[in-house]
Amino acid sequence: MASIFILQPSPPSLKRGSLGRGELQQILYEALPPEIVRTGMTFEKFEETEDGVRVYFQDGSTTTGDILVGADGLYSQVRASLEGKERLEQPIYSGMCCWRGFFNASTVPLNQEYSWIEFWGQGNRFGYFDVGKGQFSFYGFSNTEQGGNDDSVGGSLNALKQIFSDYAEPVPSILKVLENENIYRDDIFDRQPLDNRRCNKFSVHQKCPQCS
Ligand SMILES: Cc1cc2nc3c(=O)[nH]c(=O)nc-3n(C[C@H](O)[C@H](O)[C@H](O)COP(=O)(O)OP(=O)(O)OC[C@H]3O[C@@H](n4cnc5c(N)ncnc54)[C@H](O)[C@@H]3O)c2cc1C
Repeated sequence: MASIFILQPSPPSLKRGSLGRGELQQILYEALPPEIVRTGMTFEKFEETEDGVRVYFQDGSTTTGDILVGADGLYSQVRASLEGKERLEQPIYSGMCCWRGFFNASTVPLNQEYSWIEFWGQGNRFGYFDVGKGQFSFYGFSNTEQGGNDDSVGGSLNALKQIFSDYAEPVPSILKVLENENIYRDDIFDRQPLDNRRCNKFSVHQKCPQCS
């Protein structure tokens, strides 16, 4: 049974307080000068130069810059090659998995006062937030063994129902409209932050969701 919930009021000055990652990427992309962004490039290695950093890509091309930000994910090759030392250790399992997906806001009676609500139970939690254009994103976390899946209960929606059906409304109503929606399940991992002194010109630490 969910006993605690967290509410984020919708900012009155904004039409909405959240936006999807794809939309944010598009806004950032459009704010940059043309031809700055190159897609489809695979980072291979970097080296420090006198005045910055030179990056080498898999296709043989290179580029230079003042700093290098390694935003290449949990298995970051930038991080792995920091200072030439192998740092690609196995990530640390957080002890929980996460289901996530989207639903159409018009299909569920939601409290319009809040753009984000999270409910906490024992060893699990469920949240949803406005991502704009009538869509809400939902997520459900549960403490579980690493490497699990939902095959034994007949799929992810059944797994969600088993855990969250007795949560307060609107969680059961949200579960009801997920019948034809894609639900993604992933184990959640984290990494130890690198020593800041070594991060000088280089990589940042990506975060698992509860640390964001
Ligand atoms: C379920 C879940 C929910 C989350 N919710 C939030 C949230 O609400 N708010 C928040 O701030 N954070 C959230 N996080 C954390 C956030 O997703 C991560 O901190 C963030 O995505 C890390 O960004 P990143 O760019 O380092 O890596 P990623 O987002 O993983 O992106 C890595 C990119 O690098 C590319 N790449 C990989 N290797 C190479 C290579 N060799 N060369 C070139 N490109 C490469 C990949 O293709 C990918 O495009 C959440 C995480 C999870 C798992």
